[in-house]
Amino acid sequence: MTRQLYLQDAYLFESDACIAKYKKDERDMPYLLLDQTIFYPQGGGQPCDHGKIIGGDFEYTVCNIRQTKNEIRHYIELTQKASASTNCKVKCAIDKDRRLLNARHHTAGHLLGNVVELAFPSLKAIKCHAFPGEAYIEFLGADPPDEQLLQKSLQNAIAQDLKTKVFEIDRDSFELVYYKLPYEIPENKNFRVMQIGNFAPVPCGGTHLASIKEIVGITLNKIKHKNSIVRISFGVA
Ligand SMILES: [Zn+2]
Repeated sequence: MTRQLYLQDAYLFESDACIAKYKKDERDMPYLLLDQTIFYPQGGGQPCDHGKIIGGDFEYTVCNIRQTKNEIRHYIELTQKASASTNCKVKCAIDKDRRLLNARHHTAGHLLGNVVELAFPSLKAIKCHAFPGEAYIEFLGADPPDEQLLQKSLQNAIAQDLKTKVFEIDRDSFELVYYKLPYEIPENKNFRVMQIGNFAPVPCGGTHLASIKEIVGITLNKIKHKNSIVRISFGVA
């Protein structure tokens, strides 16, 4: 399996790698497997990275990254005829602005979940979709939060400039120490946990900002309530 450098450092925008294999998927779409990668595959409510894979006499545009049970697939544009061979050394570069915009939305989703759960304990975060322009987080619960109070709580949290950290723990220990998870975790991913300051940690394999201050600001776009689900749509300022 490819070494996932993006899990260790969300600010690593360039790296070396080795092409492990050139393959085509079931739809005849070409992709590369690398020995290690800085490209985040779409998942966990976060879009994938885009970027380049550059060799001695070729440059591929990476337009999609997907993770299957055993592979992290770097899809290259169809017009690009692959000439790279196995074990060929390459340079990888991701689109830094796209990564940081995604990390800002994703980290904002974490903060919003933490702040809502603390200020409005009847609500439990169950889903976060943090794509720019369409981001929302859903909570189990019947009482929508007061928007003004929530906005104030968010501003207070951002002003504290809390740091984020990630660590690995097994699921049983997590539930013993912290809380019982109200949802399932994909089995093909490590049980990796992200925590903002002293807020409750949350299992996550995404890319996060180092500090909450880098979110800059969160805008609350809409709060909807239907069938015991509260959905808060948001953006970053
Ligand atoms: Zn996350």
